[in-house]
Amino acid sequence: MQQPDQRRVRTSRAKQAQVRKRTATKARPKPIKKAGKTKSSQRTRSSTRKLVSRKPLSGTIFYLASGHGGPDPGAIGRFGRFLLPEDEYAYDVTIRLSQILKQQGATVYMMVQDPNDGIRNDAVLKLDQDEVAYPNQRIPLNQTARLRQTTTAVNRLYARHKGAYQRFITIHVDSRSRGQTIDVFFYHHERSAVGKRLAEHIHRRFRTNYRRYQPGRPYLGSVSTRSSLYVVRNSHPPTVFIELGNIQNRQDQRRFLPASNRQALASWLAQGILDDYR
Ligand SMILES: [Zn+2]
Repeated sequence: MQQPDQRRVRTSRAKQAQVRKRTATKARPKPIKKAGKTKSSQRTRSSTRKLVSRKPLSGTIFYLASGHGGPDPGAIGRFGRFLLPEDEYAYDVTIRLSQILKQQGATVYMMVQDPNDGIRNDAVLKLDQDEVAYPNQRIPLNQTARLRQTTTAVNRLYARHKGAYQRFITIHVDSRSRGQTIDVFFYHHERSAVGKRLAEHIHRRFRTNYRRYQPGRPYLGSVSTRSSLYVVRNSHPPTVFIELGNIQNRQDQRRFLPASNRQALASWLAQGILDDYR
C-alpha cells in the first residue's frame, strides 16, 4: 500500500511541475486575488502580477468544507480498539487539498478549521471538538444550523468575489453497514452544469489513477445528482459533495488510515480541479 501511494504522490508532483511550466508561458488575465483589497495593495498588484501568473490556479477561489466538526464528529468507524471519527479524516484530506491548491496559486477558504490540527501523519486521528467554522464561529450541534452556518458564510464570500472562478467542495466519509464497501462518489446539483463538470473532471482522475495504480481494483464510484443535500441545494457557487468511502468498512478504511493514502486522495482531487480550470 505504501509504495504505490508514494509513487502516486510523486507522479502528481512531477505532473504539476509540468503543468506549471506549460502554463507559465500562457498569459491568463488575472482576476483580483482577494476581495476587500485596499488601494495600496491594488497598486502593488501590477508588480507582483508576473510572479502570480506563473501559478496555474491564480485568481481562483475555493471554499473547502470538511464534513461535521466541533461537537459533531459525524460517523464513527471502528478499527480494532480505535475509533475513527469522520470529521477528523475529512479534515485531514481537506487541509491537504487546501495546501496543494494554495501552492498552485488559489485562494482557499477552509470553512471548518481546527486551530491546533494541521496536516497529521498518524494513521489513527484523535477526535477533538475544537473545530470552528469560518471565520471563527462556534459550530452548533444542530445539523441544520451547522449546514446553514457553512452555506451562509460561503454565499457571503461568493458575493464578494463575484466574477472569479469559484467552487465549493465539501468532503465527507460515509457511514454504512460494516460489510458494505463504499467507493469515492461525487454529487452535484441537478441544475448545475458547472458543478457537474467539476465532479466529472475529478471523477475521471480517480478512474484513471485507480486503473493505473491499482489495476486489479474495480473502481465503482460515480457522479450523480443529489440536489436534496442541504449544502448542494443552498450554496451559490458550483458545488461538489464528495463521499470518500465507508468509514465502517475494513477495506475502505485502508483509504484513510495511511497518511500517504490521504495525500493521494487530496492530490487526485487537485488534479481533477486543475483539469476543470484549464
Ligand atoms: Zn458526513
